[in-house]
Amino acid sequence: MNRTIGLLGGGQLGQMLCEAANPLGIKVVILDAENSPAKQVNAKAEHIAGSFVDSEKIRELARQVDVLTVEIEHVDTHVLEVIAEMGIEVTKKDGSKYYKKVEVQPSWRTIRTIQDKFIQKDHLLQHGIQVAYSTPATENTIAELQRIGKDLGYPFMLKARKDAYDGRGNFPVMSPPDIKKALEVLNGRELYAEKWAHFKMELAVMVVKTEDAQTTDSSSTISYPTVETIHEDSVCKIVYLPPRTIPKKIQQQAQALARKAVGSLWGKGVFGVELFLLDDGKLVVNEIAPRPHNSGHYTIEACPTMSQYKSQILSILGIMPPFPNNTIPAVVPSAIMLNILGGASKTSHDEVIRQSIAIPSAALHMYGKESKPGRKIGHITVVAPTLHEAETLISPLITLIGNIRA
Ligand code: ATP
Ligand code: MG
Ligand code: MG
Repeated sequence: MNRTIGLLGGGQLGQMLCEAANPLGIKVVILDAENSPAKQVNAKAEHIAGSFVDSEKIRELARQVDVLTVEIEHVDTHVLEVIAEMGIEVTKKDGSKYYKKVEVQPSWRTIRTIQDKFIQKDHLLQHGIQVAYSTPATENTIAELQRIGKDLGYPFMLKARKDAYDGRGNFPVMSPPDIKKALEVLNGRELYAEKWAHFKMELAVMVVKTEDAQTTDSSSTISYPTVETIHEDSVCKIVYLPPRTIPKKIQQQAQALARKAVGSLWGKGVFGVELFLLDDGKLVVNEIAPRPHNSGHYTIEACPTMSQYKSQILSILGIMPPFPNNTIPAVVPSAIMLNILGGASKTSHDEVIRQSIAIPSAALHMYGKESKPGRKIGHITVVAPTLHEAETLISPLITLIGNIRA
C-alpha cells in the first residue's frame, strides 16, 4: 500500500488522479512543468520540473518511486523499456550503486503500440478487432494523397500517426482540392489515412486491466458502462450516460468489444476505448487511450467509490478489488458531462462557472489551466434521475459554451 507512484504528465487527468490518490494516502510524484494542474493539488517536494519526453528526467523520477504510470501516451517509451526490464541505477550515500526495481504500468510495450495510431490499428486488426480501414502515407505529397483518395474514396480522414490529441493531428479531406491544405496543416508529421467511418453514434467504454499478460480471459478486465460521446471538430464535447437512443444489447456488445481490445494489450491500468457504431449496426474501435480518458470523467460522480482515477491507482498497484460480472456499475441512473473549452478571451467562461455553481446537481471541475481559445480548461458533470432531466439541466450551459466558442 505504501508504494509511491511516479506520474509522467501533470495535466487535468493527472490532477484528477491526484485527487483520487490523496484520500487513499497514496503518494504521487509528478514529472511535468512547474505549477502544472496535477502539481497544484498535490504539494510534494519531490516533484520534478521538466518534460515527460526527457529521458534523464524520467530516470530521475524513476529513482524516487515504485511504479511509473502515465496520464499521456506521448512519452519516451525507450527509457521506460530500459527501466522496466533492468531497473534504475541508484547511488547510495556511501557512493555504492544498485539497481532498484521499478514497474511501468501499463507496459511500455502497450504505450509504444498505442502512441503510433497506425501501429495501434494494425495491432487491433491482428487481434481480431475491427477498426476503420487505414493506410500509411509513404510520403507527404499531393500525388501520394491523391493515390490514397482513389483507394479510400472521399471523404477520408488524414491523421498524424503520433502526438495526436483533441483532433490536433486530424484533417478531414472532403475532396481532392482539400489535399493541399491538409498537407500544410499536418506539415512535417508522419501521416496515415483512414476510410471515413459513417457512424450513427460514437460510444466509449472505460476498461480496467488487472493482469500483466495479454489476455482473452475476460476475468482480468473490468468495464465501466457504455457512454455516448459527441465530438465537434474532432474534440470531445459532451458525454451521455447512458447513450441516448441505443438498446442495452448494443451497450453490452460495446463493453465486450472494449474488454477484448484492452485484453490484447500488456500491463495493468485503466484504458479508454473509443468506438464507432456504424450506420449498418457494426461496432468498430476508433482508438484506445492507455490511461484515464475524457469520456470517463463522469465516473467521479456516477461511480463515486470507484472512479476511473481510483481504478488506475488500484490496478497499477495490483490491488483492484473484484466486481460482480466484471463491471463497475454507475450509482446514478444518468449523467451528462460537458467540456469547457477556452473562449476568445481569458474570461469568456466566467458565466459558465457562475451558472454551473447555481445548479445543485452539477459538479464543476476547473483544471487551473490558463484559458486559451479551444483549450480544455474544465468540465461539468450533471447527474439526474433521468437523462431527460439531466438534459434539461445542462442545456443552457451547452448553449452558453457554444456562444463563447472562439
Ligand atoms: P482524442 O482527444 O480522442 O485522443 P484524437 O486527436 O486522437 O482525439 P481521434 O480520436 O482519432 O482524434 O478522432 C477524433 C474524432 O474525429 C473522432 O472521435 C470522430 O468524431 C472523428 N473521426 C476520427 N476518425 C474518423 C473516421 N475515420 N471517420 C469519421 N470520423 C472520424
Ligand atoms: Mg487520441
Ligand atoms: Mg479520440
